[in-house]
Amino acid sequence: MDNILEETKFIMNKYHIRANKSLGQNFLISEDIVNTIVDSSEITKEDLVIEIGPGLGTLTKYLLEKASKVICIELDRKMIKILLDRFSGYNNFDLLNQDILQVNLKELIKYEKNDDSIKHVKVVANLPYYITTPIIMKLLEEEIELESITVMVQKEVANRLIAIPGDKETGAISYSVYYYAEAESIIEVPNSSFLPKPDVTSKVIKLKIRKEPPVNVEKKEILFRIIKCAFMQRRKTLLNALVNAKVFENKEKGEEILRKLNLNLTIRPENLSLQDYANITKLAFPSK
Ligand code: SAM
Repeated sequence: MDNILEETKFIMNKYHIRANKSLGQNFLISEDIVNTIVDSSEITKEDLVIEIGPGLGTLTKYLLEKASKVICIELDRKMIKILLDRFSGYNNFDLLNQDILQVNLKELIKYEKNDDSIKHVKVVANLPYYITTPIIMKLLEEEIELESITVMVQKEVANRLIAIPGDKETGAISYSVYYYAEAESIIEVPNSSFLPKPDVTSKVIKLKIRKEPPVNVEKKEILFRIIKCAFMQRRKTLLNALVNAKVFENKEKGEEILRKLNLNLTIRPENLSLQDYANITKLAFPSK
């Protein structure tokens, strides 16, 4: 079948599928967008691709042609039958009926990398939006050997994820993403590219995992905790937020640290660079 919309309707009819909203099921029906996702993920025959939430298999079909191996992780059992019917014939297809948040990706990848033909691991997905942040954080924080993450997410979330710290859209998570990856926006996607149409506009983004972090801190957990504390009270100045959160012992100590770093005492949390936060971490929690 040459038309993705027709193919999607045909499969949904054949298997009596109604999109499950609570699982974030909005199936892609735009061939252009599918091609853009596949092209921008730059898959080669040396790649293991992990696809999160393959659904009816729209992206999967293309990924299987390009990759050495594709492992799909799908929670909905109804999709499993469809995916097995469609792709069992491919010898580079594997499927896990699990919640992505419960999968031990580190172990999985370690095992797959025993196969010499696999040099890189890439994640590609049209994500279930209700768990975008936990999925992205899992992929980044577990420090699995990933090369890149190419995903469709809600536009507003995309903008926050890829904001360079200091940009207008900066949130606490922008610093985490920036620490682990170089992010780029690939394409904005209207809701008409999905069936059913989501209420929101979407965006495809690509995160290229850094080999080395852009800042040096002894304990990155402390750095991220400080950033989180700063953003919990976003309307306050950084100084007040960090005094309230007891990151700074008291106001005087906080002022002393900010002065040392040449930071304005009224600076807001979103106006600091990652390096600024790294410097604060070092001064507030010096290594013993
Ligand atoms: N890849 C398909 C496409 O582009 O048409 C479907 C994308 S749909 C936005 C998200 C998919 O993620 C659905 O198939 C849904 O069942 C699946 N999903 C939802 N929660 C999940 C979870 N916790 N773990 C794995 N898959 C999940």
